[in-house]
Amino acid sequence: MLKCPRDGSELVIEHHSGIEVDHCTKCSGRWLDHHELDHLEALAAPEEHTRRAMIEYAKRPSELNCPVCGEQMRAFNYRAYNLEIDTCEEEHGFWLDAGEEGQVRDIMEERVRGLERAASAEESWGKFLGRVGKKSVWDNIKGMFGGRRRR
Ligand SMILES: [Zn+2]
Ligand SMILES: [Zn+2]
Repeated sequence: MLKCPRDGSELVIEHHSGIEVDHCTKCSGRWLDHHELDHLEALAAPEEHTRRAMIEYAKRPSELNCPVCGEQMRAFNYRAYNLEIDTCEEEHGFWLDAGEEGQVRDIMEERVRGLERAASAEESWGKFLGRVGKKSVWDNIKGMFGGRRRR
């Protein structure tokens, strides 16, 4: 069981949209394993390879120590959301203070919803259109209407 880097309380595991989060019931801070934020990021923007560079931006020493290895963490600003997050340089995970919790949950829910929407949309289009090869969806739509207009 991990301990809160802010007050030393034991962290309780909870789940947000299928993502496992360690929660401090005292200060309401949250700890995400490194791969969990990674996972969310991968869902959000699989084509984006510049992510790490952007996360490194504005990195500075944190006042907190990693709950896994006890080393001093680094603070950085999470792009686009104006969030400050503390992270272990050994990639053990990320710490989010209570004030950031609502925003983080919004990000998670927004991203997981986005993924589900994209996946089901893609699946239903795939079923609807059949095996469409490498043509774009737009080509297929044009093809469908073109075909109908024939008679
Ligand atoms: Zn705490
Ligand atoms: Zn660590």
